[in-house]
Amino acid sequence: MSKRILVTGGAGFLGSHLCDKLIAQGDDVICLDNYFTGAKDNVAHLVDHPRFERVRHDVIDPFKFEVDQIYNLACPASPPHYQYNAIKTVKTSVMGAINCLGLAKRLGARVFQASTSEVYGDPEVHPQPESYWGKVNPIGIRSCYDEGKRVAETLFMDYHRQNNVDIRIARIFNTYGPRMNPDDGRVVSNFIVQALRGEDITIYGDGTQTRSFCYVEDLLEGFVRLMNQDELTGPINIGNPCEFTMLELAELVLKQVGGTSKLVYKPLPGDDPKQRQPDISLAKKGLNWEPSVQLEEGLERTVNYFREKLAL
Ligand code: NAD
Ligand code: UDP
Repeated sequence: MSKRILVTGGAGFLGSHLCDKLIAQGDDVICLDNYFTGAKDNVAHLVDHPRFERVRHDVIDPFKFEVDQIYNLACPASPPHYQYNAIKTVKTSVMGAINCLGLAKRLGARVFQASTSEVYGDPEVHPQPESYWGKVNPIGIRSCYDEGKRVAETLFMDYHRQNNVDIRIARIFNTYGPRMNPDDGRVVSNFIVQALRGEDITIYGDGTQTRSFCYVEDLLEGFVRLMNQDELTGPINIGNPCEFTMLELAELVLKQVGGTSKLVYKPLPGDDPKQRQPDISLAKKGLNWEPSVQLEEGLERTVNYFREKLAL
């Protein structure tokens, strides 16, 4: 049966792909966004669709729509963007969660929180299972994002325990793909755009830190499976366990793009996690989900997107 669904942050990288997926499966979608890091362009192709609506609004202010489900994705996700106005980032995470949960409580709607592997901080347990509580600096430059997302998880669990709100929490690990903002500052878009422009590839630190990269299409399948089953609330890790150093990633990007870019080394930002890899046993068992697009293939699709977008 078709559902009415609110997607906050719907004009962002993940949000716009989610709007596409929900529209394709026959749902009615309201995309709410303040366009801080997202872009109207990302959903421009949906504007004339009869089951799609776009609303400019900030999640820190209350909102009201008659919907069956809410996906809460509104929050800047790249370190330069979430650090640009750290106080606003905390407000977005915390007030945004309260506003979504309040609405879900009134409507009896199911509500999804886009949480993050950052709740594990700079982890001492590897790979990270959902049972790990994390090692997070509460007062560093990443804290506005990490702690904001941790409080959001706390609020989701408390509304669930106290008010029986029907929640789902996904802990998202580094995800990449078409529609990432080229000036976003995240590593995959940075390396691809730099390689395409023939600029130096900026390696922060010595490049031995690791991340595990998930292609957007795989991630969204995980979201929708989590949202449309009745057993698990989460938190649940959604990501691709294939782990790479930033030097390996740079090599893969250069192999695909070709060109003359050289590696340059820049200082490692504060509190940058040394390693990150999801333990996805729970998603495999509970959602029958695992990623299928491996890094080389996903990078190829993303390189093609940026090549066209930047006309390079
Ligand atoms: P993004 O920056 O492309 O998208 C975020 C969207 O939220 C943008 O459209 C932005 O304009 C909007 N937004 C920001 N603040 C808002 C506010 N106060 N009110 C209304 N809209 C607001 O980032 P993304 O990669 O698409 O991330 C989406 C969500 O997934 C975020 O909550 C992020 O924390 C989470 N996440 C993403 C990743 C990843 O690797 N992409 C990893 C972990 C978690
Ligand atoms: N990084 C890098 N060069 C860049 C951008 C990022 O070496 O141009 C590194 C960054 O220091 C981190 C990793 O790549 O160790 C992933 O960074 P990103 O900002 O994509 O995500 P996060 O640190 O939030 O996982």
